[in-house]
Amino acid sequence: MTDNDQPGAAPWGHGRPQLRSGEETKRVRAWYRSVVCPRCDAPVGRVCRTAAGHPAERHHARSKAAGSPPYEEWRKEGLFRTSEQAVIPEILRDSDTMRDRFNVDEPLGDAAAIVGHALVHQVGFSLGDELVLDRFDDAARALALARGPVGSADLVTVLAAQVAALASILAGPFGDPEATYTTFVREQTSNARQQQRREAGRSTSE
Ligand SMILES: [Zn+2]
Repeated sequence: MTDNDQPGAAPWGHGRPQLRSGEETKRVRAWYRSVVCPRCDAPVGRVCRTAAGHPAERHHARSKAAGSPPYEEWRKEGLFRTSEQAVIPEILRDSDTMRDRFNVDEPLGDAAAIVGHALVHQVGFSLGDELVLDRFDDAARALALARGPVGSADLVTVLAAQVAALASILAGPFGDPEATYTTFVREQTSNARQQQRREAGRSTSE
């Protein structure tokens, strides 16, 4: 039968968990079947029925009568271990991977993960692909939320130090890293302004 439970009160954020354990499905079903259906009078423990007597999807009135399942309590019992792992943001898992790979602390793992994300999606970035930008924002926000102000400040420190080190490498042994970085920022902003002008021109000519 179809399982159309709406775990609206689920405590872990974005909608329903991607994976449902068999145990969870059983409990959710039993939860809603713990009340008589006000619509079809299906007794406790029994499936809803159509007027012709065939098994039907659970009636909305029955879901409403039963109320939301106690997901928080079930979570405390460890019922959702699989589901919780499935919804850990990708960027946090990437950070762990980087920490293992380089044997480094959390801020450096975070930096490697978020830069890695930017590098993988570099083409999308330069094209201003909104989906890519949104996903990057989500990843950055997930990191900041998970680490809090202190961890986020550590991440900024690591990123700034890395950019400075890269500028030194780009400038070469006799170059000036500050000048290299300044030139880079000027080029970037000038490109961005040209792009904005092109878009403004396009929208007025349409
Ligand atoms: Zn019913």
